[in-house]
Amino acid sequence: MIQRLNCPACLKPATAIFARAYSLPPLRDMIAASGLGPKLGGLDYEVRACNACELHFQTWVMSDDELESWYSPPRDDESFMSEIGSQKLHWFAHQTEEILVLRQVCPTPTPRVLDFGCNWGKWASMALAHGCDVYGVDVNRDASRFCASRGIKMVTFEEARSLRFDFINVDQVVEHLSAPLEVTRALGACLKPGGLMKLSTPHNPALPARLRASRPDDQSVLNAKTLDALFPLMHVNLFTPDALRVLAAGVGLDEFQQPLLTWLGAGQMWNLPRQFNRNVTVPFKRWRGRGTYLWFQKGDTTNPSLRPQ
Ligand SMILES: [Zn+2]
Repeated sequence: MIQRLNCPACLKPATAIFARAYSLPPLRDMIAASGLGPKLGGLDYEVRACNACELHFQTWVMSDDELESWYSPPRDDESFMSEIGSQKLHWFAHQTEEILVLRQVCPTPTPRVLDFGCNWGKWASMALAHGCDVYGVDVNRDASRFCASRGIKMVTFEEARSLRFDFINVDQVVEHLSAPLEVTRALGACLKPGGLMKLSTPHNPALPARLRASRPDDQSVLNAKTLDALFPLMHVNLFTPDALRVLAAGVGLDEFQQPLLTWLGAGQMWNLPRQFNRNVTVPFKRWRGRGTYLWFQKGDTTNPSLRPQ
């Protein structure tokens, strides 16, 4: 286990706002799948607030080895196909929408893209279908093998560092990382000048206030639904939009204003009421940089059309 006392996004000091023993039955049940119960004897599920950047994070996190064993349960192709079959069509529509936007923003005929933490390749396979040159990284060995069999170029994180990408998809990943600043810095170094990185994470601005208000004898917050955005050992970092901006700025990336009309035009499945509503509202959220879904850009002083807005 690794102990984090300072903010892992900006390295500034942080203050503990909530602590409960991992040995309490609700917490013990939540971390049972990690197999780390014995290592956590005497430790607390502790949440800290950064004094500088709005990040909330868990003090104790898994080392890379411990993380890999939790995120690498054996999977066979049948289970991946079954998971694909259970996806809602509008979830595929969201990948298509986003990739249509990126294809219009990146001027390259076949953008080289990296799906960092690609799982079974939901985003990566859609990027492949839309003409991208697609690379993937995932700690799950079976997921890597499955993605490779579907045409995605699977590489290790080390191998990815020697490549340069037009777009890096970091979707629902940085909330899991023990060292998000270091990983984001390494990924930023893999961007071509003018290249883009998407950072998206769960968003629950109400949870820290709920934890702060909880009295020491009150265990009502200790359930998976309430704690989801800071799920013990799993969602170890809880970002606000500004905390994501601080993370990106710390590695030299500029916020990229997403184009409103392009997002409006890329909306899919207007025949579904939920999509009709989403296709109208989400482009404005993207354009205004609301929520924990943001795009960032590596500066390119040679191309005026790609300057940050
Ligand atoms: Zn911070």
